[in-house]
Amino acid sequence: AAADGPRPVTILGSTGSIGTNTLDLIGRNPGAYRVEALTANGRVDTLAEQARRFSARLAVVADPDRYADLKAALAGTDTEVAAGPEALREAAARPADWVMAAIVGAAGLEPTLEAVHRGATVALANKECLVCAGELFMRAVATHGATLLPVDSEHNAIFQVFDFDQKARIDRIILTASGGPFRTWTREAMASVTPEQAVAHPNWSMGAKISVDSATMMNKGLEFIEAHHIFAMPTDRIEVLIHPQSVVHSMVSYVDGSVLAQLGSPDMRTPIAFTLGWPERMAAPTARLDLGTIGTLQFETPDDTRFPALALVRDVLKAGGAGPTILNAANEVAVAAFLGRRIGFLDITSLVARTVDRMSGGGPLSSLQDVLEADREARAVCTDLIGALAA
Ligand code: NAD
Ligand code: MG
Repeated sequence: AAADGPRPVTILGSTGSIGTNTLDLIGRNPGAYRVEALTANGRVDTLAEQARRFSARLAVVADPDRYADLKAALAGTDTEVAAGPEALREAAARPADWVMAAIVGAAGLEPTLEAVHRGATVALANKECLVCAGELFMRAVATHGATLLPVDSEHNAIFQVFDFDQKARIDRIILTASGGPFRTWTREAMASVTPEQAVAHPNWSMGAKISVDSATMMNKGLEFIEAHHIFAMPTDRIEVLIHPQSVVHSMVSYVDGSVLAQLGSPDMRTPIAFTLGWPERMAAPTARLDLGTIGTLQFETPDDTRFPALALVRDVLKAGGAGPTILNAANEVAVAAFLGRRIGFLDITSLVARTVDRMSGGGPLSSLQDVLEADREARAVCTDLIGALAA
């Protein structure tokens, strides 16, 4: 791109919660960005509307059966239209120097890697990429000279206060967690929660899958793995702290006893703006943090008995191999089954644990093929276990 022309950007998963927040920021800065590609899973109407509004050069729908609908919806525009998994990867491969990776789940891995492989600046919301293929992903970032900027609020907070030049002087990182909607509930009460209750997060408005993950606290487990890879921190130097207000987004503790934190209102447009403007700060239209009105910030240690997901993640990471890939895939299947009312809330984490057990950790992961194979197998095993539950 010309040095002073609009910056070309691509948004993978543009119709989701992160995707629409990203386009909101882009829309507030007319002339600063040019949209290369937008992608969605199946919401053709929203995708077409976004493509028209932002004059996107390419719009891709992942579901190949929706090609004709998207083509019709964008008739008379200059936007190219494509569909299917191959087209999704091509969208990421197109020249945009900033790419928002906001597809949910392992489905985002291959397209995101495509952007990494051409050395783009990748704003990473799709934490499942790092859970299912952490080592491979980070190796690709290093090999291809990509710039990885974390969007997840906790990792974005850590990134902002992590002194990369004095990494040896960092004692530990502290991930904060809201505790989700059932923070104070008993297991008995959690046994009968509905999808509607689970997706109603107290502080954040997010997609359905991550909202359920927050309710089981598997989200913090996934974020634990994410932090381990992004910051190359050993697992015994990553802590989790419950903080119900979601104001302190995470912290870094140094050897001299200093603890640095990043604070803000719970609005994803702040971390997204951080990655979009980086290395400069850009304005975001979020509520200004008013600590005087909030008054009290609480912190408590997590309860592994009521929320076993975090302990499961620590065990899986210790065992190494394909464990995290299996855990992530099983969790995606179990969360979908819960949202489809086929299993109960407490079944989610127990099915993930049983899938990991059944596959006894899986073999080593040396290639993308190994990752995709472990992911596929874990989905099949978890689906079988769900079938057995229902029978
Ligand atoms: P969402 O469900 O609102 O949106 C997901 C997007 O991915 C949509 O555009 C959807 O069309 C697309 N998509 C879904 N399945 C797909 C598939 N199989 N193939 C291709 N595209 C597909 O989710 P979200 O809340 O925006 O979250 C996106 C990612 O960002 C997740 O990995 C989530 O963990 C992470 N994240 C979200 C938030 C948040 O506040 N929403 C915060 C931190 C991290
Ligand atoms: Mg988060």
